[in-house]
Amino acid sequence: MPGPSSAGRRDRVVGGNWKMNLSADDAVRLGADLRARLGSQRGVRLVVFPPYPFLVPVLAKLRDSAIEVGAQDVHPEASGAYTSGVSAPMVRSLGCTTVLVGHSERRSHFGDGDALVAQKLRAVLAESLAPILCVGETLAERQRGRTDEVITRQLSTALAQHTPTALAKLVVAYEPVWAIGTGLSATPEQAQAVHASIRGWLASRISPDLAARVPLQYGGSVKPDNAEALLACPDIDGALVGGASLDAASFARIARTAIRR
Ligand code: PEP
Repeated sequence: MPGPSSAGRRDRVVGGNWKMNLSADDAVRLGADLRARLGSQRGVRLVVFPPYPFLVPVLAKLRDSAIEVGAQDVHPEASGAYTSGVSAPMVRSLGCTTVLVGHSERRSHFGDGDALVAQKLRAVLAESLAPILCVGETLAERQRGRTDEVITRQLSTALAQHTPTALAKLVVAYEPVWAIGTGLSATPEQAQAVHASIRGWLASRISPDLAARVPLQYGGSVKPDNAEALLACPDIDGALVGGASLDAASFARIARTAIRR
């Protein structure tokens, strides 16, 4: 992959992926705590991703605040006989702004392959929602020197057929699978190298202008203590936070670090 970095003023985006955690009461409490800490925050785009059953109460808690609510996944179809499915039009009709697409836990535990991820991304774009496309290599792939190849494949299958205009709301999250939920974060140097490659791919395959504008998040065991060094990297514009997003104080510290960088 080509790998030029391009600095520049891009949106900062910090996401909190709550995964399959919390009770309804806990989710509302966390939403309220986040609102108290970050509800009027400027200078960073904040999005939390509660489990589906808690979208409505968390949206209500965060209404008219600076914190957006997104969905952790969507079905590729808009409607139909897909028992248990939740579609992009459904989450948009609730007030969600953003959808995680291709999270590694979807890829590994639910069998979402590149082709399905591409269909989900298309469904999200069709609703004018903002996709956060998650890409990343496993430990075995990194050890075999295949990181660039894997990420190029994931980007290419999901994005290559879209125009820059269609991808105006795109965010890409680089999440090395070996760093997610393990406490083992990529070093800033490792993360920056992959982010620069992703931006290079976007520049050569989609458009240099889009590449300069797309926020790239790092995800994988981001905590208040390592956020500063990661977010200081020129091509890291934000973070996708799992475990630490369940603690409002930790999430708020990471969000404020993203603004300062
Ligand atoms: C994630 O869920 O996308 C994630 C990065 O999780 P964690 O921060 O817990 O590694």
